[in-house]
Amino acid sequence: MLTTLKDWVPSILFLETTRACEYTCLHCRAESQPNPSDGELTVEELKSIVDEIVEFDGERPEIVITGGNLMLKPGIRDLISYISSKGLKFSLSPAASLLVDYDFINFAANAGLSSISLSLDFPTDNGAGNLRDPRHSIDLIRQISEMAIKSGIRVQINTTVYEGNVNELPGILKIIKSMGISTWEVFFLIRTGRAIGLNDLGPKEYMQVNSWLADLSRYGMNVRTVEGPVFRAIKAIRSISPEILEGPLYDKLSEETHRLLGMKVEDRKPDLPTSGQRSQFRGTLFIGSNGNVYPSGLLTYLAGNIRNVKLKEIISNHTDLLDWKNSGSIKGKCGNCGFLRICGGSRARAYTYEGDPFASDPMCLFFDPRST
Ligand code: SF4
Repeated sequence: MLTTLKDWVPSILFLETTRACEYTCLHCRAESQPNPSDGELTVEELKSIVDEIVEFDGERPEIVITGGNLMLKPGIRDLISYISSKGLKFSLSPAASLLVDYDFINFAANAGLSSISLSLDFPTDNGAGNLRDPRHSIDLIRQISEMAIKSGIRVQINTTVYEGNVNELPGILKIIKSMGISTWEVFFLIRTGRAIGLNDLGPKEYMQVNSWLADLSRYGMNVRTVEGPVFRAIKAIRSISPEILEGPLYDKLSEETHRLLGMKVEDRKPDLPTSGQRSQFRGTLFIGSNGNVYPSGLLTYLAGNIRNVKLKEIISNHTDLLDWKNSGSIKGKCGNCGFLRICGGSRARAYTYEGDPFASDPMCLFFDPRST
């Protein structure tokens, strides 16, 4: 059923509180810098956004507080307390730094923090091609995870996958499991921000990595993908197009996973009921630290600025893109695909490669026979 477009509410709303960060990771979408940039939203302005969200009709989005390093935002505890006082579900995505200490975790847990996400892109601190600043070490990630888990906070690991680390994915998986973490959010590189100089996977590798990820529920891992929506299509119909989903990279990742985790895939029960994407996932909205509003942090298609226009108005002016599942706006192969509603292709990749957020995802090799 077509929703009225003005009713669209994202499942997740990202609030980028600052671009300041002590690190300069190679793939940083935010192009972080040591100090806050000029004109960043103040905590009072961020609270006003929260007030607008509270007035949304129906279900409200989960708020993800992000940065830069959100720990460097003056007044961050005040903002968290405010969000908590409004009864909104929220999670944090800080840089793994010494600022995320026990006192802060304890404070956030008492405020009702639901989950925290930490980034890990390489199984060693100093591996060639590691995207992260070396101070952002595996030990530190482990330490923060332990504190969070002890405080009853769910922890997930985020990994950006690109040409330089694709063979390391099983090693990263092993580390995540050793931390007692069972949610892994895998971001497929979009060349934006500082990531503009990094190399994407090719389409064959993209399909095979998604196929390998779809197997990981058999290892007790709940995988979600970002800019890899074909994952959902593969989960739905695993038997479709095995010639596309399997190949040398899939075989290599599967064998290495077996070697590192000591389990045969076929010995495990297939698909945990909790695996896959969030149910009823409607999409995201991203509010940058200067008030610019985008569909996501990786889709830099400017929808407006929160300082000039109300959030609801920005949404209703862009529902063709934000509510693409219902708006009929997606073109080409994705627009005609039977997987449109569960996949739809990466809008960020379409925008990056084709300059059109409504274009087909250029990385997908599926051809859905049902679409002819
Ligand atoms: S053609 Fe587009 S909608 Fe269909 S599976 Fe591929 S990316 Fe998804």
